[in-house]
Amino acid sequence: MTTTTSPRRATAKVRPADTRRHHRTLLLQHLVDEGPTTRADLSRATGLTRVTVSDLVAEMVQESLVEDIGARPGTHLGKPATLVAVSDAAPVIVAVDLSDDSGFDGAVVDLHGRVLVRERAPFSRGAEAVDGVSRLVERLVEAAPRRVLGIGVGTPGIVDDSGVVIQAPNLAWDAVPLAATLAERHGLPTSVGNDANIAAVAEGAFGDGDDAGLLMVTIGQGVGGGILVDGHPVAGPLRSAGEIGHVVVDPDGSACACGNRGCLETVLSAPALRAAASDDARRHAGDLLGSVLTPIVTTLGIADVVLHGPTDLLDGPVLEAARAAVARQSLPFVAQRIRIRLVAHDELVLTGAAALVRHRELGVV
Ligand SMILES: [Zn+2]
Repeated sequence: MTTTTSPRRATAKVRPADTRRHHRTLLLQHLVDEGPTTRADLSRATGLTRVTVSDLVAEMVQESLVEDIGARPGTHLGKPATLVAVSDAAPVIVAVDLSDDSGFDGAVVDLHGRVLVRERAPFSRGAEAVDGVSRLVERLVEAAPRRVLGIGVGTPGIVDDSGVVIQAPNLAWDAVPLAATLAERHGLPTSVGNDANIAAVAEGAFGDGDDAGLLMVTIGQGVGGGILVDGHPVAGPLRSAGEIGHVVVDPDGSACACGNRGCLETVLSAPALRAAASDDARRHAGDLLGSVLTPIVTTLGIADVVLHGPTDLLDGPVLEAARAAVARQSLPFVAQRIRIRLVAHDELVLTGAAALVRHRELGVV
């Protein structure tokens, strides 16, 4: 997250056993946020003593997390202070995005969020999909130029905190322990999150998103949603917040993968939009989307709505009809302020999944 409510400084609340890890996180966080920094400035910024900073930096140099990159530019009398930076040899992250309908996307991402390698695998369902993801991970681990810190996966559906995919109708997954399975097969710590929540966090942190309030709608094989309020993803006690794809918009509509009829997904998923080639059919889908969005943005007071998916399908009739429906159905004060925009399906879930691993393994946000 780019915004924090309190400065990141050492606090007295931390248990002694966690102190070292916490202090390392403070230093890494500063280096990720601010770039190369001298040890003296790291000490000033974090409130840690010079000795502690030097000791922890030496430890992280040993682990190739950070490195000395030479003197600060400019003229100084005496011995110039050396800058410390996140190392170009730092471990990398294997990230996977399962939201696209044309295949599974994978990448090797560095600690800065830069994509180093891309790989794809064919779309599949059920147990075959678990194996497909695992093979994709294997290829990425092999392609990784350096040690892999962990695996991050963004998947459609409802995901619990331990990385069990409780329900993902489009992947035909019920109670699939994806994180545990991948961790065991590849011997790497694995984090799994809902694709739309991950995209919402990434758009708030790295993109143009308003992280005070953002609704991310992912449109691919299915339709998902993620909500960010005050910089935090909202999951709700059911872990299902944002799952707007399975709101029924037409009780007499087509059968949905979830077992109901006429879910929003049956008209708005990428395959459904591809099948509905006429502008009228796409306008109808956009209109239904707008009708589902209105009570959500009104209830939460959210002004930034992002449609994340194939822009060739979403730009034009779908987007225009969704905007018109929200404008028509909400209070003028709200209608004038809401922006509904498109973000192309590209690297958002991948970089977001990598950020999830970075946070879980290094504490860095
Ligand atoms: Zn459904």
